[in-house]
Amino acid sequence: MSDGKPISIAFEQHDHNACLGKAMQAAQGYCEEHKLQLTPARRKVLELLLQEHRALGAYTILDLLREAGFNSQPPVAYRALDFLVENGFAHRIERLNAFVACALPGTEHSPAFMICRQCETVAETQSSESNFNFSTTADFSGFKIEQTIIEAKGVCNSCAEIEQL
Ligand SMILES: [Zn+2]
Ligand SMILES: [Zn+2]
Ligand SMILES: [Zn+2]
Repeated sequence: MSDGKPISIAFEQHDHNACLGKAMQAAQGYCEEHKLQLTPARRKVLELLLQEHRALGAYTILDLLREAGFNSQPPVAYRALDFLVENGFAHRIERLNAFVACALPGTEHSPAFMICRQCETVAETQSSESNFNFSTTADFSGFKIEQTIIEAKGVCNSCAEIEQL
């Protein structure tokens, strides 16, 4: 795949420590540049989302926050998630009712997600790279698109291999 190649390396073998470190550093830099407060709770939630390239529900995040020693009430987790989504560090996956870290923080993009139904790994790509073009249809009908989110469900490579065994 040369064109339409996924931006996210979620489905590929990679040095995840480096991947996590780079993402956290980018978030830190972005917040400093835009005078945003990356509070310990926000930072921790982002770290949790980046941990496994998987979508996490708000309750899972709340549990993990508590495990990490945050004496957190639901509003703390929700507010941290709101902050991350609003500032483009995370996306909400409607289909899973869960959140995932953004693969392209700090850039304008219309995300498209490939969701593995087995391991629930989520890879982000850009919908502009998919073959389907919403905007032509929308122009024609006079519909004004504010946001497009494409969610595709399927099986990732490693899960497909396991299924074949
Ligand atoms: Zn990674
Ligand atoms: Zn994104
Ligand atoms: Zn999978």
